[in-house]
Amino acid sequence: MERLGSGIEAGRLSTNEYASNFSDLHPRLDKHEALVASDRCYFCYDAPCMTACPTAIDIPLFIRQISTGNPLGSAKTIFAQNILGGMCARVCPTETLCEDVCVRNTAEDRPVEIGRLQRYATDIAMEAGRQFFERKASSGKRIAVVGAGPAGLAAAHRLAVNGHDVTILEAREKSGGLNEYGIATYKAVDDFAQREVDYVTAIGGIAIEHGKVLGRDYSLSDLTAEYDAVFLGMGLSGVNGLGVEGENLFGVDDAVDFIAALRQTEDKATVPIGRRVVVIGGGMTAIDAAIQAKLLGAEEVTICYRRGKENMNASTWEQDLAASKGVIIRHWLAPKSIIGKDGKVAGIEVDYTAMTDGKLATTGETGIIAADQIFKAIGQSFVATGLGALQFDKGKIVVDSQGRTSIENVWAGGDCIGTGEDLTVSAVAQGRDAAESINSMLAAGAQPASAVA
Ligand SMILES: Cc1cc2nc3c(=O)[nH]c(=O)nc-3n(C[C@H](O)[C@H](O)[C@H](O)COP(=O)(O)OP(=O)(O)OC[C@H]3O[C@@H](n4cnc5c(N)ncnc54)[C@H](O)[C@@H]3O)c2cc1C
Ligand code: SF4
Repeated sequence: MERLGSGIEAGRLSTNEYASNFSDLHPRLDKHEALVASDRCYFCYDAPCMTACPTAIDIPLFIRQISTGNPLGSAKTIFAQNILGGMCARVCPTETLCEDVCVRNTAEDRPVEIGRLQRYATDIAMEAGRQFFERKASSGKRIAVVGAGPAGLAAAHRLAVNGHDVTILEAREKSGGLNEYGIATYKAVDDFAQREVDYVTAIGGIAIEHGKVLGRDYSLSDLTAEYDAVFLGMGLSGVNGLGVEGENLFGVDDAVDFIAALRQTEDKATVPIGRRVVVIGGGMTAIDAAIQAKLLGAEEVTICYRRGKENMNASTWEQDLAASKGVIIRHWLAPKSIIGKDGKVAGIEVDYTAMTDGKLATTGETGIIAADQIFKAIGQSFVATGLGALQFDKGKIVVDSQGRTSIENVWAGGDCIGTGEDLTVSAVAQGRDAAESINSMLAAGAQPASAVA
């Protein structure tokens, strides 16, 4: 057993326990289950589930195709709107999107299992290696995409379909963005993120260059000079700090780094975890870090969130999942200082908080929670370098409804822009729509002026 510090140890569990804890959260439905689940759909006219999907997948149609024994047709319907439909089927918070508004989601009934049906169809198509799109004739146009996350991949695929040649410039060693480095291990097992990258790029016309960092190796103006258009899909690579005393002690870590390390390890038994872990934050990252800390064998995991349950960014379903794994969620607590002993974390002092005159304020009461490891999960930030005169608002890139930025021939989408929820499916929708806008611009530019008029 590796002993790193007070209570932070690797190898807390047996091999079988690691395997069982990190297995697929919702395994794929089998054929019979899929037929039964699809049979529950009313195939609504003006289906609310479709409106709630950021990528506007024709949900009643794909479910009907499953129910008539046509999963490949179903997958084609899904991929037409969302080429990362396989990952979205695994990670979408369907309980706040399509399944939330499903007409069967009533007190007496339960919603159609849209996410699991989507996974059934897309898995079958991907495992069969079925591609549903052919590239149009070459346009001769070259487009640079910065970032191989969901936004960049969706943009690249739609651009490639339209006959353009795409170069994705990606900072990290692997493609996929947070699908590869962020999504909880039990949501995307068996290297699914990489298999999906392979599926998306199999269309052809997409080259990915890894280790190419915008702001370090090239600037935006280099790209606009070399390419016909640029799409920025860089996500949020900075992490917000707590700004309290003791933040640099051994045992205080970024939740995103912890999750990335866990995703990249071959052997979960090598990942050290505290005996008593505190996670600060109220979003999906906090929930995922807390659950995975528990699954690694931490005895006590507590999430501290500074507001109430209803204010948490993590859905009720995610919160319930955490509770079911034994995570304690405590509300109305804000970090005051981190307590150290011999240079290592020994606990956290918290302020009790409340809403006073419509504002969040500390009440004057404090408390101490013993901990040997603390994860910070209070949000990510955009790191802006090499972007010249690009316009920002509240630290994110300003775009119009088509994803166009303030610089000519430069589009952006995903977490790095100021609109939309920070979800995989929103990033896919924004990448796809920006690609359509780029395509329209290039098509118009390729025509003689008289034809445009
Ligand atoms: C821990 C965690 C868990 C999450 N869980 C879920 C979930 O369960 N469901 C869900 O819907 N959403 C989830 N999200 C949110 C979701 O992952 C993001 O909304 C989505 O990945 C955004 O896609 P993106 O393409 O905009 O950015 P990213 O996925 O961040 O991809 C950006 C890419 O750009 C690259 N890059 C960054 N800077 C540069 C640079 N300077 N030069 C070149 N390349 C660069 C990065 O390496 C990365 O590959 C989670 C987020 C986190 C942090
Ligand atoms: S709202 Fe529910 S029942 Fe209606 S089409 Fe969508 S999934 Fe089917």
